[in-house]
Amino acid sequence: MNGKQLARKRVINLPEKPIPPKKEKIGISPYIIALLLSIVTSFIIVFYSKGIKERSLYNADLLEYKQIVANHSSDVARYNSETLSYIHSIDPMYDIDRNGTIPVIATVRYQQDQKSQYIGSEFSYNFQINDYNIRKEKEFRLNIFREVVFNTKIVESDPSSDDVGIEKTSVPISFLELNDGYTHRQVVRIREYYGKDAGNVAIYNVTYSIKPKQSLRLSAAQRASFPKYPILPNEPKKDSYSISFWDTIRDYTDVKLFIGIAFIFWISCSYNSLIRKPRIQYQRALDKYNKANEEYTSARNDLIQQLSGKTIRELAKVPDFVFFTDDDLPYTKGDDRKYGAFTLYVTPSGSCFHRERLCRKSAFPIHMFKISSRYIPCSICAKNYKIQKPTWYIEYLDLKNKCRHFEITE
Ligand SMILES: [Zn+2]
Repeated sequence: MNGKQLARKRVINLPEKPIPPKKEKIGISPYIIALLLSIVTSFIIVFYSKGIKERSLYNADLLEYKQIVANHSSDVARYNSETLSYIHSIDPMYDIDRNGTIPVIATVRYQQDQKSQYIGSEFSYNFQINDYNIRKEKEFRLNIFREVVFNTKIVESDPSSDDVGIEKTSVPISFLELNDGYTHRQVVRIREYYGKDAGNVAIYNVTYSIKPKQSLRLSAAQRASFPKYPILPNEPKKDSYSISFWDTIRDYTDVKLFIGIAFIFWISCSYNSLIRKPRIQYQRALDKYNKANEEYTSARNDLIQQLSGKTIRELAKVPDFVFFTDDDLPYTKGDDRKYGAFTLYVTPSGSCFHRERLCRKSAFPIHMFKISSRYIPCSICAKNYKIQKPTWYIEYLDLKNKCRHFEITE
């Protein structure tokens, strides 16, 4: 073991020189990290909420729609009875029966269109309203609560096969429309399929008019408060319930709240893990360092105090005739022995140490403090000899090590 190795050897019970703690560096600002996490979280919240909001709006409307559909027949029945009593309240003598039929006069007019092509000239006509044939004018009872069916059939007689045009329309007509006089127009097309005019189309404009035989006189106010037919709303369509990204944020408090919570959550998480915790850890390490440094400095100062004005030799009371090698091994001068009074001898293969160089031929000098415990004293030249380190030497080494430990130069 040389001097340098000795210097590195730890001296037990002496405080080590502490290393000051380092502050952890954060690459990106924790607030930027928090902001990015919050934005990502907000996107998830908004998309998730968007789906929920859309579904709930749709479901609410669908429920309402189903309710209206379920109630529709009773609503219609109520409308019918309200209409009847309303009409009677205006004119108790008005001719309307319990089923809602009133006497009407229907007329029909027809005319070939100018765009019509020639398909022949032998036309026959059939005009019907609710299975009543209308020639020029027809009086019959019409149910104001039922759809009215207009059915036109125009035939051009051909020797081979007749050309037929049929137009059938079903129309709901309210009492008010009827009361004002209702007009229904149809366009009937008759196509020629065979013969020289094949492909030609004859067009007829047909106009049906229905007037009640007895018109009900209504004031504007009475018209306005006439019972309204319960109209079925359109069935809600799922894809029409789309809320935009920004509307989801703007229109819903809970979404804003969740986004706010996300921001607070990530900022506090980020602050805690990237600022607060490292700060606490650094403070702890710093406290520990300060305490250790205090111990180290005070122990070092004690040693300096102890050494003040004196050398290690003096303090350890090393005898004046003793010198030290670079390896801190003591030796004396004055004779030809390698370490003076501290010289012993061993042979390469032996198990004994000798005090006399000449005791064994092959003996070579060795410092007595370097002899390991496997050697026993020679029974001739070193009988009962014990290798003992003197107290001044132990003290000297101890002080030397302490000085090295505390980096004190004499
Ligand atoms: Zn011997």
